[in-house]
Amino acid sequence: MKIGVFIPELIRHLFRTPATVDYPFKKLEVPKSFRGSPYLQPELCIVCRACERDCPAEAIEINTVKEEEKIFSLVIYNDRCIHCAQCVDSCPTKAMQMDEKFEISNFNRHNLKMDWEFVRAAVKPKAENKS
Ligand code: SF4
Ligand code: SF4
Repeated sequence: MKIGVFIPELIRHLFRTPATVDYPFKKLEVPKSFRGSPYLQPELCIVCRACERDCPAEAIEINTVKEEEKIFSLVIYNDRCIHCAQCVDSCPTKAMQMDEKFEISNFNRHNLKMDWEFVRAAVKPKAENKS
């Protein structure tokens, strides 16, 4: 094949804007609905355990630390997480949220574990029926 046939194509591409970004020096903004990693806002958690029950990867573990003082722990094993956001959908108080990080690779899977120890949030009373 003659090399000359590529020259018009080469010239056309010289003046085009690139289709890719210079990652990791430049980064694209992720969309609002991006599913990064789940994290807990402990001040909103009523320890209903819906996230733990519904997680398909068994990546969430909730334990009682001190029953009388209503202290609990919640662990997210991010090395097992499949980033499906089911825990966020199941959470009735919006205590579980997803962040926008995507550079979470690590040589040690145990470093991906996140845990919180917190006092259970009070259950908000339901709005009274107006008749
Ligand atoms: S995002 Fe999915 S896999 Fe990850 S902790 Fe939540 S429910 Fe489990
Ligand atoms: S994070 Fe949400 S779903 Fe999980 S235990 Fe707390 S309140 Fe319930």
